[in-house]
Amino acid sequence: MTLRFDLHLHSHYSVDCLVPPERIVEAARRAGLDGIALTDHNEIEGALRLAEALKDDDLYVIPGEEIATRDGEIIGLFLKERIPSGLPARETVSRIKAQGGLVYIPHPVARGVPPRIRWPVLLEILPDVDIIEGFNARVPLATDNHRARALALAHGKAIGAGSDAHFAFEYGRAWVEVETFHSPQEFLERLRHGRIFGERRTPYWVSGITWTLKRIRLAWRALNARRINCGPNH
Ligand SMILES: [Zn+2]
Repeated sequence: MTLRFDLHLHSHYSVDCLVPPERIVEAARRAGLDGIALTDHNEIEGALRLAEALKDDDLYVIPGEEIATRDGEIIGLFLKERIPSGLPARETVSRIKAQGGLVYIPHPVARGVPPRIRWPVLLEILPDVDIIEGFNARVPLATDNHRARALALAHGKAIGAGSDAHFAFEYGRAWVEVETFHSPQEFLERLRHGRIFGERRTPYWVSGITWTLKRIRLAWRALNARRINCGPNH
């Protein structure tokens, strides 16, 4: 059976997204997806909870995390526990592998996506990379998705695709089609023979809203942390 997966999307467990995981489920079904990889920024709690809640459901959830390494972003798929941000890329890759996960590089060469992985570091970790994102619906320049696919083909890597959704209307804007699988390694094998799709790119101003939301929520958190630190006696 052929399954349709959006491999890169966010929920409100990400600092720059307000969509609760339950709404993603509705949106994913509406978009005709059979599965999703929930890849919150530096968080995995939402993905693990959703995977557990849907374990007997027909919507498959791959628990993932988009990790801000010291050298740029790397996604781990099929993770069991959170990997902290701020580690060197090589260390992050080792931790993904130690959990039996797959190393997935999002928007590897995208201009206008500041946290993308640094090029010399990508070349260094490339032998351990399993998947390169060949279509990201948020990448501002379409040619950068072409360049990403060329990179994957040149190095014999499986090609992934995802909406990178942060708003409900974005889920399912890009996906891969793979045959049924039973393990991360089998998924990778299927992906090598799979196909990627992505027609509608998300307008760049939507990323601008995400960026603003992130700033507001981080400022709000910092304010609350200050209040807690002050304590009730001050
Ligand atoms: Zn993302």
